[in-house]
Parts: sequence; structure tokens; C-alpha cells
Amino acid sequence: MTPTTTIPALVILDRTIARMLPAVPKPLVHMLAQRYIAGPTLADACRVVKRVNGQGKLATIDVLGEEITRDDEARAIAGAYRDVFQTIEREGLDSNVSVKLTGLGLKLDYDLCRENLESVLGEAARWNNFVRIDMEDSSTTNETLRLYRELRESDHENLGIVLQAYLRRTLDDIRSLADLRPSVRICKGIYLEPPELAYQGYEEVRANFLRALEALLDAGCYVGIATHDEWLVSEARRIVARRGLGPDEYQFQMLLGVAEQLGQRLVREGHRLRIYVPFGEHWYAYSLRRLQENPRIAGYIAADTLGRLVPRRNGSA
Ligand SMILES: Cc1cc2nc3c(=O)[nH]c(=O)nc-3n(C[C@H](O)[C@H](O)[C@H](O)COP(=O)(O)OP(=O)(O)OC[C@H]3O[C@@H](n4cnc5c(N)ncnc54)[C@H](O)[C@@H]3O)c2cc1C
Repeated sequence: MTPTTTIPALVILDRTIARMLPAVPKPLVHMLAQRYIAGPTLADACRVVKRVNGQGKLATIDVLGEEITRDDEARAIAGAYRDVFQTIEREGLDSNVSVKLTGLGLKLDYDLCRENLESVLGEAARWNNFVRIDMEDSSTTNETLRLYRELRESDHENLGIVLQAYLRRTLDDIRSLADLRPSVRICKGIYLEPPELAYQGYEEVRANFLRALEALLDAGCYVGIATHDEWLVSEARRIVARRGLGPDEYQFQMLLGVAEQLGQRLVREGHRLRIYVPFGEHWYAYSLRRLQENPRIAGYIAADTLGRLVPRRNGSA
């Protein structure tokens, strides 16, 4: 059974509350989203990545920063990534990084963003590490792919990209990127997009995810299969097994704080799994997106609201 075939009352309540999340007070969003974010500092990210590595998983560190509005803030995010690479090296972490181009200034100035990304890539290359560009909403897709191509064509080999299965254009994008043999993370996609640009149905997105995965593997790409959807995970396992791929020829990817048991199972079965570990002060937009996807969000918010409306009588903490 899929979420589109039966919609119980609780799911409707969850969806309604998820849409209302921007009206929820920031401190409550912060509290509810703690499981998804390592913390405000690089030391927090370092601690979490050590734990993740100790569980046999790889990591990718993301400096939260998509809410920036000034050039100096974009430069500061690029600087924060340089610190991340130094910490990865010093602490012996098994981690690469993920960047959001808006955090590096894409909405301010393309050239500033390119300069910032090149400085992050330079630091990555110094440490023999790798940078993946996250994919943001559809207003950024063309410029993101343009910058990706420009940098790969100027010999930045240590750069990967993300494609979103909900976008109708994704199979075309795979075809037009194929000559670069890109390292691609395929995910469903999280931003709200109109029906002209994106599939809206749960099953349609799943089907396009699998089509994209097959197309990427056909094109000889290294693929990060980023999903917590059990059905997609098992279909992907079938696809890589049918193609006879070894564990170093693909990887699964998941978000910090999501579907941990499914992740442990993949690791036990011998698959590579990379956990996305975000940290930083700009936590709000990322937190909202994660909470909007949490199928139990209504329950959490209701419990908190009820807890405040009906004070506990026995004084227990
Ligand atoms: C490593 C990684 C990187 C990503 N990078 C990008 C990117 O660059 N651009 C982009 O648009 N999107 C990105 N995403 C998000 C992705 O597009 C989806 O929005 C997200 O992964 C949820 O889709 P799903 O495939 O897990 O399926 P869903 O059907 O949404 O979720 C499957 C199940 O996972 C569990 N689950 C999912 N999310 C949560 C949550 N927040 N809290 C609790 N349980 C949850 C639930 O049990 C749910 O039923 C990334 C995801 C991952 C895993």
C-alpha cells in the first residue's frame, strides 16, 4: 500500500501541520529538529561524524548557510569549509563535504559563487577530498548544472552533483551530463515545485527515481542512492545486484537522524552508507524541510502544545 492509495485521518493532519510549520515558533522548530543537525559548531559535526564512522558509515559534512544575504557571509561559508577539511584531516574523519550554491552566493552573484566554490575545491584537492553540490529549488537548476560543467571542464575532478527524481527534466540532464561521467547523488527532491516541472504523485516520483538510477548506471556514473524509502532501497539493492556491482561501485546515502535502523541493516549487509551531517548557525530552513517530511510531526507538535496547555501536576521534569 502506498501513501496515495489510502490517506488516513492522521496523515491528513500531519500534512496540514507540515504546511503550517513556518508559523510554529522558532524555539519549538529548533527543539524538534535537533535530531537532524549535529549542532551549531564544527566541533559538534566532528563529534557526530566520529560516532557515524564508528558505526561503519561514511559521512558528508554540510555547513548550513542557505539563508545568507551578503557577499561577506557567502565568503565566510567558503572559509568554514576550509576549516572543515582541516578538521577532517586532523581528526582522521571519513568524510567529504556537501555544499549549497546559495550558501556560497549563487543568488547574489554567479562569479562570486564560482570563486567561493573554487576555493572550497582547492582546499578539497589539497587534502585529496571531494565536494558534492547539493541541488536546490528549480530556480537554481540551470546555473548549478552550468557551474558544475564549467568546473569539471577546468579539471576539477573532485566534484559531484545531485539530481532530483521529481523533476521532469532529470533524464535529459543525465543524458547531457553523460560525457562528464559525473558522480551523482540521486534523491527524490524536497522543494515545492509546480506540476509543469515536477512529478507530484508519490508513485511517479518513485518510478522516475528508478529510471534515473538505471540511466546513471548505464552511463557509467558512480551513484549515491539517497533515500529512506524502504521500497526504493530494496529495488535499488536488486538493481545493483542484477548488474553485479561491488560495494565500492555505488553507495547508499541517508540524512542524519532519519531511518537509522534501515541504515544499520544496509551496513550489516555490506553496502556503503554515507550520512549527511549538517551543522551551523543557519539551521532554520533546513530544519523546516526535515520536519515537513517527518511522518510523525503532527504528534510531536500536538504533544508539545498539549504539554504547555496542560501543565504537569506532579512536578516531574
Ligand atoms: C543524503 C541525502 C541528501 C539529500 N540531498 C538533497 C538535495 O541535494 N536536494 C534535494 O532536493 N533533496 C535532497 N535530499 C532530500 C530528498 O530529496 C528527500 O526529500 C528526502 O530524502 C525524503 O525522501 P525519501 O526518499 O527518504 O522518501 P520519503 O517517502 O519522503 O520517506 C521515506 C520514509 O523515510 C522516513 N523519513 C523521511 N524523512 C524523514 C524525516 N525528516 N523525519 C523522519 N522520518 C523521515 C519516513 O519513515 C518516510 O516514510 C537528500 C536526501 C538524502 C538522504
